[in-house]
Amino acid sequence: VWITLEGGDGSGKTTQSNLLADWLSEEGCTVVRTREPGGSEVGQLIRDIVLHHRGDIAPRAEALLYAADRAHHVATVVRPALARGEVVLQDRYLDSSVAYQGAGRVLDATEIRDLSLWAAEGALPDLTVLLDLDPAAARARLDSADKPFDRLEAEKAEFHGRVRDAYLALAAAEPERFLVLDAAASTDEIAALVRARVAELLSS
Ligand code: C5P
Ligand code: MG
Repeated sequence: VWITLEGGDGSGKTTQSNLLADWLSEEGCTVVRTREPGGSEVGQLIRDIVLHHRGDIAPRAEALLYAADRAHHVATVVRPALARGEVVLQDRYLDSSVAYQGAGRVLDATEIRDLSLWAAEGALPDLTVLLDLDPAAARARLDSADKPFDRLEAEKAEFHGRVRDAYLALAAAEPERFLVLDAAASTDEIAALVRARVAELLSS
């Protein structure tokens, strides 16, 4: 079973991922936690470029770096874990690329999706949890967190608005794969809804 978490920066993916991982372990699942970008050793190097390079990266080059990370990650981490029957719990996947490189950078969403699917040899998760949050609320959360912003978090509000809209459009296009939750709800409320859906998935 393959579960991905999506949402803007500050939407609470990490918190929910931690809670879900604990619950899955209690349920007796072997959980592999991973993320994009940076879920493999090669991916760590790519993550360092896309998040910490000083100065601009041409949008298509950035999209290809994410795609390269994805190709290596799916081939060497995700597929092997799924083949072993483990639960893969992943922060961000191709929907992030459609939202950030597509809508955020204004590249063509269909081309970005096709590029990602090519990179991943068509692999799609069983469930994608989208934590939907108004960019202004996300900004307030990030501002109150005492860690430095990375390159993308510092993008302006308009960029994050496009990202959010793109995520919602993706979820509307694939309602069976997506569980869309209001990230402004309480942590416990969200966690309970996620668990309910994952329990369904595990028993199917
Ligand atoms: O979720 P995480 O904090 O690891 O993401 C790191 C940064 O990379 C975020 O600021 C996110 O906006 C950005 N990102 C992106 N395109 C992706 C994946 C992540 O711009 N495909
Ligand atoms: Mg982040």
